[in-house]
Amino acid sequence: MKNQFDPNNLIRENIRDLAPYSSARHEHEWNDGIFLDANENAFGSVSSGKHNRYPDPLHRRLKSAITDITGVPGEQIFIGNGSDESIDLLLRAFCEPGKDKVAIMPPTYGMYAVSARINNVEIVELPLKPDFDIDIEGILDRVHSDIKLLFICSPNNPTGNCFAPGKIETVLQEFPGIVILDEAYIDFSLQRSFLDSLDNFANLVVLQTFSKSWGMANLRLGMAFASREIIDILYRIKPPYNINGPAQLFAIEALENSALKDRMVEETKVQRQWLIDELQSLPLVMKVHPTETNFILVKILEADKVHRFLASRKIIVRNHSRSLYCEGCLRITVGTHNENRRLIGALKEFNHSI
Ligand SMILES: *Cc1c(COP(=O)(O)O)cnc(C)c1O
Repeated sequence: MKNQFDPNNLIRENIRDLAPYSSARHEHEWNDGIFLDANENAFGSVSSGKHNRYPDPLHRRLKSAITDITGVPGEQIFIGNGSDESIDLLLRAFCEPGKDKVAIMPPTYGMYAVSARINNVEIVELPLKPDFDIDIEGILDRVHSDIKLLFICSPNNPTGNCFAPGKIETVLQEFPGIVILDEAYIDFSLQRSFLDSLDNFANLVVLQTFSKSWGMANLRLGMAFASREIIDILYRIKPPYNINGPAQLFAIEALENSALKDRMVEETKVQRQWLIDELQSLPLVMKVHPTETNFILVKILEADKVHRFLASRKIIVRNHSRSLYCEGCLRITVGTHNENRRLIGALKEFNHSI
């Protein structure tokens, strides 16, 4: 199954020839020693806590903790300042502005298109089918060699569904560029992760994040998994100290307590089912879309009005009414039981008021 693929044939020329910035801290990971190389403040920090030293630019301890959990070797792991940074760096490494293109499958996560536009990279839309399934024939008909990156989000945001692994594999086999498979919600899903398939597909990049199941959105930590060649490229172009020290430490701590993540995921699923049952019993609700995530896409009567009414009660949900095939849909994140009860209470109140 191994396809002939070398990311260095896709890379932008100016990046291929780039000599990366190198600090002394790239070479040494000593805890002791006399550090007079980086113009830091040797006396300490003005803030509470000790933050006067630059963090590890290569994220060595954090990656080793990720290897312990995933089995993926460190040289196939990149840590970004959120998944957003990995997305941006992939665009910057492989897409010549004003010339190359990326493909997305709307309705999907908005950052792919925003990041492409920031980089002046044209977007080719390969829409999902109206039932939110991946349109394999439509994709394979339209892939050209000037499309460098193809984004697949599974489970998909905002629709909540997964794509069949066989279909994702077909795309990986047929698409000549890099396939970025965003698994931000994989822990809430019954689907298997493609981390196990990294060695079968040299053009696969899997994105995961600490922002959802791990409950660490505030720290901005995203993981990209890929071939050693692709990961090398990302490390060459990232800002040297992209992940701050406390974020690296908290992430290591989290990985050592992953059983707590599993319990939170289970609680999320219990609350998700409660919300689905309650939503389905409301006359206002036309369709509760199946979900393998920590959110629910709901087609509802008077979606704009409901959205505003909830906001007036300080309950904030996402209005997706104007996303492709999502007419009348709100996206509701699963909250705590108390938050979910208040949401349902407010929806019942709206129901009475019309
Ligand atoms: C929330 C989300 C992310 C996470 O992004 P971070 O920058 O890591 O917080 C990534 N992809 C999708 C589809 C998401 O919904």
